[in-house]
Amino acid sequence: MYGQDMETIKKENMNLADDIYIFDTTLRDGEQAPGVALTVDEKIQIAQKLDKLGVDKLEAGFPASSKGEVMACSQIKDIVDATTVGLARTVKKDIDAVLEADLDYMHTFIGTSPLHRDYKLKMDKETIIETAIAGVEYGKDHGLTVEFSAEDATRTEKEFLINVYKAVVDAGADFLNVPDTVGVLTPVVTRELISDLKAEFKTPISVHFHNDFGLATSNTLTAIENGANQAHVTVNGIGERTGNASLEELAVTLKAVYGIDIGIDTTQLYNMSEFVGRITGIKMPVNKPIVGDNAFAHESGIHVHGILNNALTYEPISPELVGHSRRIVIGKHTGANALKSKLEQYHIDLDDQQFQKVFDQIKALGDKGKTITDSDLKAIAITEISAAKETPIKLIGLGLLSGAVVSPTATVKLEIDGVVKETSSTGVGPVDAALNAIKDLISDTMDIELEEYNLEAITGGTDALAEVFTITSDSHGNKSTGRATNDDIVMASISAVLDSINKLLLIQRANE
Ligand code: MN
Repeated sequence: MYGQDMETIKKENMNLADDIYIFDTTLRDGEQAPGVALTVDEKIQIAQKLDKLGVDKLEAGFPASSKGEVMACSQIKDIVDATTVGLARTVKKDIDAVLEADLDYMHTFIGTSPLHRDYKLKMDKETIIETAIAGVEYGKDHGLTVEFSAEDATRTEKEFLINVYKAVVDAGADFLNVPDTVGVLTPVVTRELISDLKAEFKTPISVHFHNDFGLATSNTLTAIENGANQAHVTVNGIGERTGNASLEELAVTLKAVYGIDIGIDTTQLYNMSEFVGRITGIKMPVNKPIVGDNAFAHESGIHVHGILNNALTYEPISPELVGHSRRIVIGKHTGANALKSKLEQYHIDLDDQQFQKVFDQIKALGDKGKTITDSDLKAIAITEISAAKETPIKLIGLGLLSGAVVSPTATVKLEIDGVVKETSSTGVGPVDAALNAIKDLISDTMDIELEEYNLEAITGGTDALAEVFTITSDSHGNKSTGRATNDDIVMASISAVLDSINKLLLIQRANE
């Protein structure tokens, strides 16, 4: 992916473990995100998807918290291939709940930092170590694989932290987890801490990093570069406060930037993210790396031009790698090339004049701050294709007055064969009033009847483009269709009617 120099730099500066395990905690830390509460059924559905994705371990919950949690954990264990993990404090009651859920793997923790010792646990250092040992031993005595976390490890005195880890290793701990509980690590500090722990312990090192400063993924990658054997992650990076390292960011960065395959099927990541976003109600912002709506979206003329020639010009990876899709967005910054390619994609052929008119309308809508969807573009282009070839009748001006006190009144100014005429009419609504005024103004030229009027908002929202379709007939029995798109309903209606009137007039004149 990089030039040769970068490859060399990476190899010389990394001390990778032979295997890197993904420990997903979406169902435990992710569920602890403010406002998130998952039912047993929802947890099972997410667990099945995570299992298919290929995570190695799946922390299913905190069994001691409720009977429902015990049930969810044991049911998940029965249906997934991944190792199912239950969280427990280093107390008998919590560990018994993990056993009650019939799990084989426990993630147990106790706070080790001065803040946790003095204000939360009210225990001195010795008592912390004794309690940690007792918890690990109790788990091991009952046949559990034990992962031990020194909660708030990154704000714990280094010497004491190492003493705690030594004690639990002696008690039989199988994994040493390093939680950056409030996300204060930086990459440089992470490098030193993990290197020191790797030098000190043969027991595999795991990391659990929070994202309070937006560094969770960077710090996790730094830990892996320096030999960490396992990373705790969550889908969409959800978790306590601003969350944890994100599964999709970590897995894709390892695969695409580092060239390390950790066995995650990245093509399922976009769907996974959407699913978890919907179930938890925590939707991802459009600019979220990997899975955000804009991750592979392009609008500006220069970028779209590059993308159309070779997508790698402005994309680091292909959207297919993560199950996402590329999107060319039409808007204010759209260039002619992008618009032409979009129209080609929809098999819409425009001559130069029609194309220019469509392009001008797109720019004008973009300048008003509107998002132009593909459906909007299609409607605008088709309107242009079907427009009357000549327009003997043109709209010059329009004034509207509507309200509860007065009848809706429209003042319409038309140019008919070069002559400007103006009149006002009332109606049941502004559209009706304007149509009455038009009928009045053209009465010398032709007699028309509106046979059909169809208004549709192309896409949702109150500022959606309106598309109006009309059929108009004259006294000779001729009929013609009219079509218009506009962000204003009245303008769309009047334009559509005038379009059909002009077509009728052209028919009449051709027959004369
Ligand atoms: Mn956490």
